Amino acid sequence: MSTMDQGSGFPPPADRAGNASSGQCYLCGQTIPADLMVRFGDTVVCAGCKPRYLQMIQQGLNKPGERRYGGFWIRFVAYLIDVVALSVMNVILGLLLATPFIMSVRPGQPPVFTSAAIIKLILGTVLGLTYFIFFVGKYGATPGKMACGLKIVTSDNGRVSYMRALGRYFAQILSAIILCIGYLMIGFDREKRGLHDRICDTRVVAK
Ligand SMILES: [Zn+2]
Repeated sequence: MSTMDQGSGFPPPADRAGNASSGQCYLCGQTIPADLMVRFGDTVVCAGCKPRYLQMIQQGLNKPGERRYGGFWIRFVAYLIDVVALSVMNVILGLLLATPFIMSVRPGQPPVFTSAAIIKLILGTVLGLTYFIFFVGKYGATPGKMACGLKIVTSDNGRVSYMRALGRYFAQILSAIILCIGYLMIGFDREKRGLHDRICDTRVVAK
């Protein structure tokens, strides 16, 4: 797929030489060679993003200013709210789990805290996973994002499925373990995409 299939055939050599500079795709940011660019007025997109861009035009989202993206700091605040909410849930979980073990402590016998700690770790992970997938899959936002008026959508403004929410959860871990560079990318991207947004083709928009 290229511009060639819309045009009147292979461009003559002179024409190709005149347009030789490569461009950057408006949507994915990929550098594209001149002969593979698809032009819409001043906007250039790659062949892969062309269907999506056409869809965006239909929805009236073709101008950059029309979709407001959630920036780094507001998303940071939303994330802190989620961390606090999850911590509270984890403390409650810990207390619920610890109680039977504390009750079972007998004098002269070693307590079995190790297994309790492992169970808590597993349940805590499941809790975090459930929290993000349930809220993002069902409402398109975690409670933290809701509180900050943010919503996660797909690049074409669609709903985020549970599967995508699951993928995004793990992609967020990736963004975090590389010294949070995946998160810092939000501050430097025109569409405010973190690494996890790039991987999962999501955007965080302000409602
Ligand atoms: Zn593209």
